Amino acid sequence: MKPLIAAVVIGVGLAFVGEQAPADPFRVLAERYVKLVLAVGQHDPDYVDAYYGPPEWRKEAEGTKVPLPDLAKRAKDLLADATTISTPATGKDAELWALRRQYLERQLSALRARLDMLQGKRLTFDEESRALYDAVAPRHTEAEFESILKTLSAKLPGDGPLSGRYEQFKRAFIIPRDRLDGVFQTAIRACRDRTRTYVDLPAEESFTVEYVTGKSWSGYNWYQGNYRSLIQVNTDLPIYIDRALDLACHEGYPGHHVYNVLLERHLVRDRGWIEFSVYPLFSPQSLIAEGTANYGIEIAFPRPERVAFERDVLFPLATIDPARAKEYYDILALVERLTYAGNEAARRYLDGKIDAKSAADWLERYAMSPRPQAEQRVKFFDQYRSYVINYNLGKDLVKAFVTRRSKGDPSPRRTWTEFTALLSSPRLPSGLK
Ligand SMILES: [Zn+2]
Repeated sequence: MKPLIAAVVIGVGLAFVGEQAPADPFRVLAERYVKLVLAVGQHDPDYVDAYYGPPEWRKEAEGTKVPLPDLAKRAKDLLADATTISTPATGKDAELWALRRQYLERQLSALRARLDMLQGKRLTFDEESRALYDAVAPRHTEAEFESILKTLSAKLPGDGPLSGRYEQFKRAFIIPRDRLDGVFQTAIRACRDRTRTYVDLPAEESFTVEYVTGKSWSGYNWYQGNYRSLIQVNTDLPIYIDRALDLACHEGYPGHHVYNVLLERHLVRDRGWIEFSVYPLFSPQSLIAEGTANYGIEIAFPRPERVAFERDVLFPLATIDPARAKEYYDILALVERLTYAGNEAARRYLDGKIDAKSAADWLERYAMSPRPQAEQRVKFFDQYRSYVINYNLGKDLVKAFVTRRSKGDPSPRRTWTEFTALLSSPRLPSGLK
């Protein structure tokens, strides 16, 4: 996996934990939790998404592969101990302490479920998503998708299957390979500028971009600690112009990079809550991470502003006809209404009701995925399973939460304030309701 282009920005190293609170009742427990997550990572290479706590803890975990049943016992004991600790019931931070406790307990129960899975336990798609991500995706019927497909069909005239016509339509919107880095860097700068207008970020935060191949995902943010991220973009498949801003917002600003930076600053450094220095991928934290990253696109670039920015800046940079920006985003808005078709395909496939080929067929027919992308998505189902719900259900839950908290004030300032508060606190998916 060799990066083709890399734009390197080096961050400034800082001490990793701030002043520890004088008497943190969770300190010992939090350390046990971090070490347990790292130990599970020895059995599951995808499990630890980020870790920037003491390096010796990682070394310790790497030195011994603790048997799964022993880890399950440690998790059970840890969860029992967590319930005995009392937290402040009043005061300005009472809510945050309550969130911390619930979060730790729920993260631990997800860890236990993942350990069960690693030991061979089989869960249905919905059981798994509830156990790991604290949420269950709603069900949608073919009929619901069919009505959207009908509208789409009228807008994409021609012969042959609709997915083929859609692919043909999209061909004019591929970013040429030699323009990719320029377009992507411009998109990231724009997302960062908009985010910085509303979110106070450490001056030294930074990221590196790499272009990679051979992955089941289209982009990935690997948070490194010290306010730095490595953002990888997969160039296996053609990259359409909408992906530039989507990936820049989702992986960078105000998405994953900002989320991790704010957790590091407010929880790990300011409060010394060490449990947030580790991020287990198969846990409720991922629904918040993906949901905020996806909703973040809309916050940074509301639809009309986005179309204008694409038309005036990104389309010309990518040598794509700017006059077609609105038409392109109108079609995409329709296709986005098919997003839950992806969950249906994953649910049927992982529950053993359809095979890989039928899952790709379903994605082609109901989610408008061109064949190669449909096949890439089935590989994603194999690797990440019910994780798929975190993107669309996560976005919908986060959006509803932020809107409700904004209490009828739709101003950007208010929306960003509520959004940033969510990014800086340990809230669970079930707590978004
Ligand atoms: Zn993501």
